Amino acid sequence: MIARVTLDLTLRREFDYSVPTELESSLSVGARVKVPFSHREVLGVVTALVDSSPHTGLKPILRVIGQQSLVTPRVLELARWMAEYYCCPVEAALKTVVPEAVRQEEAGWRERLHVHVLPPAGEMPKLTPRQKAIWNILEEWRELPLQELIRLGETTAETIRKLEDKGLVVIAPKRDERDPYALERFTPTQPLTLNPDQDRALQAISGAMRSASDPAAKEGGGVFLLHGVTGSGKTEIYLQAIAETLVAGKGAIVLVPEISLTPQTVERFKARFCSGPHPTLVAVLHSQLSTGERHDEWHKIRDGRARIVIGARSAVFAPVEPLGLIIVDEEHEHSYKQEEAPRYHARDVAVVRGQRERAVVVLGSATPSLESYFNATREKYRLLELPGRVTDTRLPVVRIVDLRLEQRKTKGGASAIFSTPLTEAIRLRLERAEQTMLFLNRRGYSTSLQCDTCGYVAGCPNCSVTLTFHRKAQHLRCHICGHDETVPAQCPQCSNPAIRYSGLGTERVEDVLSRLFPQARVTRMDSDTLQRKDDYRRILTDFRTGKIDILVGTQMIAKGLHFPNVTLVGIIHADLGLHVPDFRAGERTFQLLTQVSGRAGRGDVEGEVFVQTFTPFHPAIQFARRHDYLGFYEQEMEFREQLKYPPWSRVALLTVRGRNEDKVKLVAEHLKKTLASRLESWRDLVLAGPAPAPLLKAETFFRYQLMIRTKAMARLGRELAAVEASLEWPEDLRLTIDIDPVSLV
Ligand code: ADP
Ligand code: ZN
Repeated sequence: MIARVTLDLTLRREFDYSVPTELESSLSVGARVKVPFSHREVLGVVTALVDSSPHTGLKPILRVIGQQSLVTPRVLELARWMAEYYCCPVEAALKTVVPEAVRQEEAGWRERLHVHVLPPAGEMPKLTPRQKAIWNILEEWRELPLQELIRLGETTAETIRKLEDKGLVVIAPKRDERDPYALERFTPTQPLTLNPDQDRALQAISGAMRSASDPAAKEGGGVFLLHGVTGSGKTEIYLQAIAETLVAGKGAIVLVPEISLTPQTVERFKARFCSGPHPTLVAVLHSQLSTGERHDEWHKIRDGRARIVIGARSAVFAPVEPLGLIIVDEEHEHSYKQEEAPRYHARDVAVVRGQRERAVVVLGSATPSLESYFNATREKYRLLELPGRVTDTRLPVVRIVDLRLEQRKTKGGASAIFSTPLTEAIRLRLERAEQTMLFLNRRGYSTSLQCDTCGYVAGCPNCSVTLTFHRKAQHLRCHICGHDETVPAQCPQCSNPAIRYSGLGTERVEDVLSRLFPQARVTRMDSDTLQRKDDYRRILTDFRTGKIDILVGTQMIAKGLHFPNVTLVGIIHADLGLHVPDFRAGERTFQLLTQVSGRAGRGDVEGEVFVQTFTPFHPAIQFARRHDYLGFYEQEMEFREQLKYPPWSRVALLTVRGRNEDKVKLVAEHLKKTLASRLESWRDLVLAGPAPAPLLKAETFFRYQLMIRTKAMARLGRELAAVEASLEWPEDLRLTIDIDPVSLV
C-alpha cells in the first residue's frame, strides 16, 4: 500500500510514502501522519491510498496520529474544491478545515482527578458539618473534577479525602473533557406552536429534508433563503428543523457570525436539545475557546456524541456525519468571509457542502445579501418569507434627524453629537426607567488629531490613514496595523500647544453623554472596553438586569441581542459607512441601520429609533426608515446592473503589494497586460485597473489592484491560478487573489 500525502509545508504538491504493514490497518484517507522529508520529520494528511507509485525508493510513514482520520473524506473533497475555487494551495485549505488544536502531534486530552459518588452501602456514616456541606454538593452533581469541588465547596483536598476514607466517594484520574459550559445548567425548553408563516417555512424545509433522505428521490436537499424581520421567529424554525434532522438520524451545523455567538444564543440551542426525544450534545466552536476546549469540542463532533454544532465561520468544516442540515444565520454578514488565504466565504462553502452531501441549507436574514436574494428570484434558492414579528409588537418607528439643520440651529457644540430630538428622547427613557442603546461605528475618542494653526494631521507611519485618538489611554492608535504612540504635547510641525481634537468615536459619545445626563448609568462596549474574556457577558448581563441605563457601542451591539426593555435606539452618525469607496457601501449601511433598529421595541412598549445623518435623502437611509427591503433591493440592483457589479457578475480582486510604489505599479500593469492577452476572447469580462487600493499603504506595503468581473468565476479561477504559477516575480512583491471579495479596501 502506498499513501499519497499533502505535507504541512506549502509545496503545492503531494508526496508518496510506503505504508509499513503494521500501520496498514490504522491508516485511512484523511489520517494525519508523520513522515520523513529531506532531513526532517514533517506532519501531513493522507489524501489518497494507491497501489503503485511512479516513484521508486519510497520512504515509509513513521506514525499515524490519533485513532480516527481527522479529515473525513467528504471534508477532504470540500477542501480540494475550496483550494481550486479560491485559488489557494491545497495545503492552506487542509489547514483550515481542521483546527490547529486538533492537528497537533500530541493528543490534546487532559487527565484530572475526579470525585465520584459511590452507590450507598449500608448506613450513612456520621459527617462533620464541613464534610456534610461537601456531600450536599456531591449529591447534586454526582461527579466533579476534584479542583472544581474544592472551588465550589471552598474546601481542601484533605476534607474530600475524608469522605473517600468513609467509603462515600472515589477519587480517580479520568480523561477530562473540557466543556466551556460545564458549570451551567440549562432549563429544557419545548418547541413552540408555530404561527402560520413559520409553519409554512418549516414544512418546506422538512419536505426537502425528507426527500434528501429518500435514496429513490432524484433531487435532495436544496437551499432556502429565510427572509424574516428581526424577531419574526427564525431561530425557532431553526430549532424545530434541527429536531427533525436528529429524528432522521442526521446532524446539523449552525453558523452564526462570531459577534452574535453570545451565551444567549448558545443557551437557546443547548436548552432545547439537552433533553427531549433525541437529546444530544451541542458542540460550540468559536475563537474565544481555549486550545484545549476547542480540541475537546471538535472530538465530541468527530466521535458523533455531539450531533449539533454551533459556531463561527470555520464550523462549516465540522466533521458532522451524516449531515442533514446547515443553517447560516445572518447570511449577509461579511465576517463569514475569511480575509486571509484561503479567502473563503462560509455561506458559499455551506451551499457547496450541502449540495455535495445532500444536506438542506437554510440561509436566514432580515436583510439578505443582494447575491442571495437574487439567487432566490432566479429560483436557485427557494424563498421563505416571515413578514411580521411573532409577538404583536410592531417594528419601531424610525425618525430621521437632519444633522445639517441641527448644526445650523445650534452652531456646533454637544448637538453635533446629540440632536435636540435625540436628547429629549433619551431624557424621556430615563424618566420612564426604560433603556437606550446608542450606536456609532467607530471607536476611540475622535478620529484624528489635527492642528488648527498649520493643518498638521497625525498619520500612521505605516498606513495611509490618520491615527485615532484614545483619550483615556492618552494614545494615538492606527486601527489598521495597531501602531501606537503617545499624544504629543504640542504640534510636531509648528509647536502649537493647542492642538485640536476633531471627529467622533464611541469614547467621546460616552464622555459627552455623561455630561448631558450625569445621573444616567452609561456603559460603553467596543473592542477597547472588552479586555477580559468575560467582559462581554458581564456587560450584557448588567444591561439585561437593568444595572445600565444607556449602552453605547459599535457594531458589536447591533447584532442579535434581545432586550425587551430597550425602547430607544440612537444612531449617532448613519453616514459613516456611506462614503467608503466600495460598491457595497449602500447595501452595508442599509443592513446596519435595519439591524440596529431591530434592537428597539422587542418588549411590550413600542420602540423608537433616531437616525442622525447629514444625507437624510440617501436611498439606503430612506428605505431603512420604511423597513422596505424589496424597495432597496430593486433600486440597488439597477445601479449594480449598470456597472456590471455583483450579483450581475462575480468579482476577483488582484492586489499587488510591495514596499516600492513604482515597482508595484509597474508589475501591476504588466500583470494586466498578461491577463488581457490571455483572456482576450472572453466576452463578458470587465478588466479594471490597475489602480491604487483605496487604502494605498497598509502596514508599510503599497498596494495596487486589478478588479476582474465575469459570470464564469470557476473558469476564471483556473486561469488565474495558471497565471499566478507562471509568474516570476522579485521576492519583495506579493500577489493576492481574492475571489468574491466582500471588502475592496
Ligand atoms: P428571530 O430569530 O427571527 O430574531 P426568534 O426566533 O428569536 O426570532 O423569535 C423572537 C421571539 O419570539 C423569541 O423570544 C421567541 O422565543 C419567540 N417566538 C418565536 N416563535 C414563537 C411562536 N411560534 N410562539 C410564541 N413565541 C415565539
Ligand atoms: Zn498603521
